[in-house]
Amino acid sequence: MAPALSPTRSHHVAVIGAGPAGLVAARELRREGHSVVVFEKQKQVGGTWIYTDEVESDPLSVDPTRSVVHSSVYRSLRINGTRECTGYRDFPFVVRSGVSRDPRRFPSHGEVLAYLKDFAKEFGIEEMVRFETEVVKVSPAAEEGIGKWRIESTEKEKKVRRDEIYDAVVVCNGHYVEPRLAQIPGISSWPGKEMHSHNYRIPEPFRDKVVVLIGNSSSAEDISRDIARVAKEVHVACRSNPADTFIKQTGYNNLWTHSMIESVHEDGSVVYQNGKTISVDIIMHCTGYKYHFPFLDTNGIVTVDDNRVGPLYKDVFPPAFAPWLSFIGIPWQVLPFPMFELQSKWIAGVLSGRIPLPSKEDMMIEIKTFYSTLEVQGIPKRYTHRMGNTQV
Ligand code: FAD
Repeated sequence: MAPALSPTRSHHVAVIGAGPAGLVAARELRREGHSVVVFEKQKQVGGTWIYTDEVESDPLSVDPTRSVVHSSVYRSLRINGTRECTGYRDFPFVVRSGVSRDPRRFPSHGEVLAYLKDFAKEFGIEEMVRFETEVVKVSPAAEEGIGKWRIESTEKEKKVRRDEIYDAVVVCNGHYVEPRLAQIPGISSWPGKEMHSHNYRIPEPFRDKVVVLIGNSSSAEDISRDIARVAKEVHVACRSNPADTFIKQTGYNNLWTHSMIESVHEDGSVVYQNGKTISVDIIMHCTGYKYHFPFLDTNGIVTVDDNRVGPLYKDVFPPAFAPWLSFIGIPWQVLPFPMFELQSKWIAGVLSGRIPLPSKEDMMIEIKTFYSTLEVQGIPKRYTHRMGNTQV
């Protein structure tokens, strides 16, 4: 066991991001007695739930010089879990009379944003947030003391660049911004348009087009149905489907599910593993995202390798920097808001010394054992943070 921190010690903590994770982190850290500054590059709280019509200049979002749009939310998006599963545990996502714009049990994204604003107001969180302030570099500041961190940030309006020292950093920057793309044989000479679902907002641009979506996530499911209302044909291709898959979706006369794409060609055709060949206008990658921490400089101690952020003890603390650096929201296939709340409580309690962590060595042993378990089961690194994996 690591030596316990002095009980209930208060620290100066930086939180990066004022989305659902950063908001509840700020609340829990302050509840525990820490002083908190939240850095948020947008103008308001809410993170990915701030819908915008704006999309990125590069529809595939690979050009490193593009100006990044944070939100991936499309106009028709409704939550895929109930209100009961979506809210924080002590601030339920209930229908608020006179305030709610969408009383449904699976409401639209605007209702989630309204809820997050209510939460921020209820707990006075905005007073801790520096809006339009982007964190550009986070690095250990050993010369300032053990565990200290240097945070460099830029404030848009005043064009101010700040360089400050904090006791601890909690990273809540969101994980649905940097797209992953499918590898498609022949794509460099295919003449159609390619895009990632990050840049999908409304169905209208797909009117009368033949569209292929790649993926089997909720985005592919949602967007294929959204587009099918106006498109000529919609084809969903997925690598986890058996090679002979070819299914017409019930209730639609223009929506099919296929096996994965085998190749694409100069004449605009797309050939599937099931042997079908279709002439296609647009391919949309609904293939998810990469963890991305462009501001984090840990001298290679914390890395992202095939979407494994590591090493992380229980997906939160990198042992070498624990408890002074932590991450909220890394696991997936979870109930996000309640998980953010529980992770925040843990971090706040560990920082104050109320909750002990194992020694760095013991945390590393546990992480390595977990990685070996995944390897033995043939689970790729990119599934490290999927909940439901066998844990050690
Ligand atoms: P975000 O909401 O992305 O917030 C991160 C914040 O950090 C942003 O405000 C960003 O501006 C800020 N930031 C990033 N980098 C910096 C920096 N360098 N400096 C300063 N600020 C920075 N979850 C559900 O529970 N239910 C759903 O139905 C659901 N549907 C989803 C649909 C889509 C299309 C997507 C993309 C996600 C969906 N999610 C859903 C998951 C959703 O991402 C989480 O609910 C939640 O928004 C994640 O919160 P977060 O705070 O981790 O990240």
